[in-house]
Amino acid sequence: MSPEFKLLGTGAGPGVPSFYCDCIACREARKKPQRARTRSGALIDTGNERILVDASPDLRSQLIKEQIDSLDYLFITHWHYDHFGGIGDLEFYIKLKRKHPVKLFLPSSAVEDFQAAYPFMMDVFELECWDYEQSYTFSDVKLTVLPANHSIQTGGLLLEAGQRIAYFTDTSGLPELTEQRIKGVDTLICDATFHGENWYPDSHMTIEEAIQLGEKIKAGHTILTHLAMHYSAPTTVQQIEEKLHSYPKVSLAFDGLTLKL
Ligand SMILES: [Zn+2]
Ligand SMILES: [Zn+2]
Repeated sequence: MSPEFKLLGTGAGPGVPSFYCDCIACREARKKPQRARTRSGALIDTGNERILVDASPDLRSQLIKEQIDSLDYLFITHWHYDHFGGIGDLEFYIKLKRKHPVKLFLPSSAVEDFQAAYPFMMDVFELECWDYEQSYTFSDVKLTVLPANHSIQTGGLLLEAGQRIAYFTDTSGLPELTEQRIKGVDTLICDATFHGENWYPDSHMTIEEAIQLGEKIKAGHTILTHLAMHYSAPTTVQQIEEKLHSYPKVSLAFDGLTLKL
């Protein structure tokens, strides 16, 4: 099997639909469940190893839906609930089935928070702190952690195998050095949390900003992810897709989207 990168979840913190919301985006997602979005996370499958990127609070349902029955590594991009809230779901898998620890890559600033939140899981993970500009090789896939601009220490991923894919799930734009490092990637998968007004500009991007970033770094293709769909100006998948007709190099992520690496 050639290496793959799969988006397990493509929604922002509240998910789409949000249980408390009846906007046009949430109504569309209730009517057409393939347009619903679980909280963001991804899986790198090298063919030999599986690296889970973030453990969303929807992790259990994501793994069941995608028929993923084993994991070898867990990589946390940053310590926000929508990216770590599913960690507890791995306890039974590791203790009862795998029976030896999974290596957990954490931002150094998250170690104390992890220990406080999951004291019962200290023996199921082998902790390692990732660093910016550090590269890891998993079979034929090289993963490099690059700085993102988010409210806390956050890593974006540059994945290199046959393809170069940049994954920046939570960012408000990129530091100049990061832009240089990902210049000309085949695919940029980018934070596009907001449609309409961006009321959290230190943390996230709008759909328009993500499209511009893809053009600026000359990405072959830009895929919009971490979509809230209803933070300021609710919109539907159908409406965004109509708008994207004028951007042939841009498309919307959806849960389960799989790319060859
Ligand atoms: Zn975040
Ligand atoms: Zn997030």
